[in-house]
Amino acid sequence: MKVLISSKSFNCDDDNIRLLKGAGFNSIVIPGRKLEINEFKDFISDADGIIAGTEQITKELLDHAKLLKAISRFGVGTDNIDLAAAAEKKIIVLNTPSAPTDAVAELTIALILNIIRKISEVNKAMHSGQWKPVMGTLLRGKTIGIIGLGRIGKEVIRLLSLFGLTMIAYEPYPDIQFIKEYNIKLLSYEEVISISDIISLHVPLTEKTYHMIDHGEFSIMKPSAILINTARGSLINEEALINALKLNLISGAALDVFENEPYDGELAKFDNVILTSHIGSMTTETRIKMEREAVENLIRAIEVVKK
Ligand code: NAD
Repeated sequence: MKVLISSKSFNCDDDNIRLLKGAGFNSIVIPGRKLEINEFKDFISDADGIIAGTEQITKELLDHAKLLKAISRFGVGTDNIDLAAAAEKKIIVLNTPSAPTDAVAELTIALILNIIRKISEVNKAMHSGQWKPVMGTLLRGKTIGIIGLGRIGKEVIRLLSLFGLTMIAYEPYPDIQFIKEYNIKLLSYEEVISISDIISLHVPLTEKTYHMIDHGEFSIMKPSAILINTARGSLINEEALINALKLNLISGAALDVFENEPYDGELAKFDNVILTSHIGSMTTETRIKMEREAVENLIRAIEVVKK
């Protein structure tokens, strides 16, 4: 059997190679870079399994996969995979949902503290020889609004619970016990958007959540509001965000994810915007865990198909 590791950042260590070989994958293809569409089609044509990152796996591509039984997504989001086409071809799609939770939640806290204390701005000034004492704000006493109280949203709440914030959230399927335990007020989407000092997005990208933060949402946010996005870029209409920043409709944003990645657009011109390059799950511990889970998921899926 052949496995294609199409994720460019997957570090297939010796243990993972051993596991894959033990499961019958005698051909392990690791290009280690972003694949051009034609070479992707070529590699996929006789692959039994794929370990995928965030690269687009379209119906057109899947039409070339004659033997493919499973796509094991190394990460959480499966919005880059045409799930309907995969289902039609009876290709199993799996992900590693819990592995990145701690890393993304910790990055979210880092971004919140960074932006309210202007750490990146001051750091940039210091590196250019400028002593720049700037005023920030406290977290204590502020209201944080979490959109999406799933794995990551809940972990953000747990980590923030010692900061003396009022915590509000919008979540269609709330875990009532958790809500009670952390004294979270569940409100409507519009209420969370308009009341929060800090709004943090933790929902999957779907047709329903695409551009869930658009011109209308910015128009009801507090002018002092800060928007944090460590989930998916297309949750925010970036053009509307740029407009909101230019008109001072909000006071800043911290973004780990973008509509088009790698990102090199206009948002980089704003001092009150912190940008990170989709590093949410990029901690050594998380990557090792995710890689192992992706390999084990693929092996399990192939075993299920064989039965
Ligand atoms: P999860 O599925 O555990 O939680 C998502 C929550 O959002 C669920 O509780 C769901 O009910 C809720 N939800 C769905 N639609 C909603 C809507 N319209 N409004 C409000 N809530 C809604 O997912 P998770 O593991 O917490 O991941 C959250 C996000 O983080 C995903 O978008 C994922 O792709 C992203 N992520 C980013 C990185 C990164 O590197 N930055 C890494 C991992 C995950």
